[in-house]
Amino acid sequence: MPASIIDGVALSRTLRADLARRASALKARGITPGLAVLLVGEDPASRTYVGAKVRACAEVGLASHLEEYGAGISEAALLERIVALNADPRIHGILVQMPLPRHIDPLRVIETIAPHKDVDGYSVRSAGETLTGLPGLRPCTPLGCMLLIQSTGIPLRGKHAVVIGRSNTVGKPMAMLLLQRDATVTICHSGTADIGRVTREADIVVAAVGRAGLLTATMVKPGAVVIDVGINRVTGRLCGDVDFDSVVQVAGAITPVPGGVGPMTVTMLMSNTLDAAEHAGTGVRADAPEGRRTA
Ligand code: NAP
Repeated sequence: MPASIIDGVALSRTLRADLARRASALKARGITPGLAVLLVGEDPASRTYVGAKVRACAEVGLASHLEEYGAGISEAALLERIVALNADPRIHGILVQMPLPRHIDPLRVIETIAPHKDVDGYSVRSAGETLTGLPGLRPCTPLGCMLLIQSTGIPLRGKHAVVIGRSNTVGKPMAMLLLQRDATVTICHSGTADIGRVTREADIVVAAVGRAGLLTATMVKPGAVVIDVGINRVTGRLCGDVDFDSVVQVAGAITPVPGGVGPMTVTMLMSNTLDAAEHAGTGVRADAPEGRRTA
């Protein structure tokens, strides 16, 4: 029997309805949650992602403040703008769309964002909070993946989860969130000798690499939950890291591309911004919705 499809669009719709209610409640208290989105340069993919984020803000009832800068903006000028946004009470979240032009250090940019406005969850502090399970803003994509996995009803305790990819923004935090929920976690990367040998043992596979067709049916245990984070273009067609047509015949549940992780990433950005707005001025860190568990 083919796998059931984990529908990120449908789950997002449900979650966004709840987020809209939270936004309304904040507005009733005189607080309009605000997200600043900074776009530098003319990268078409970045422009598409930013467009989706701005539209999601409108859908949920958040005020988006889109600021566009030419690729020639200096790092100092960009940092100065972030410092001003840190102090702006209308702004609860700051997102700087990556990648940035080569002359701008992304880490310096991320570290300039005030921790309570770091709605991408990319800062070293957010990474530390994710690692330790302390309250804080989690990176949007891994958080969205957790909710997709949880939507299947699979209990994570005692399960073997394999994450392919070890980036600071997706792979590593993904592994930490799974570990936090008591999965036994293995991380594969470009130096892993035989990825299939590892993934064939997995109850859950998260592919976050950026290589079309990396995960094939022979690498998947029958009934496994497969989450495809990858975004690739093959002859103009959008696809993930998973060879969907073959893996869907083996897996128990699988996310499609498009329509799986992508919409959830944007929804989690909305969620993080609302968390930040709800906690603004309290000095208390937001409680991540993946089901935080402190050690
Ligand atoms: P990244 O920073 O380029 O990291 C890719 C990871 O994959 C690295 O850890 C790399 O290993 C590993 N890798 C590369 N080739 C490999 C191979 N042949 N076998 C095993 N591992 C390999 O990318 P990222 O930012 O994590 O994103 C990963 C993918 O997810 C991309 O396609 C990206 O576009 C997509 N993405 C999607 C969303 C969404 O919302 N759907 C959000 C973010 C990212 P090494 O560390 O050893 O080099």
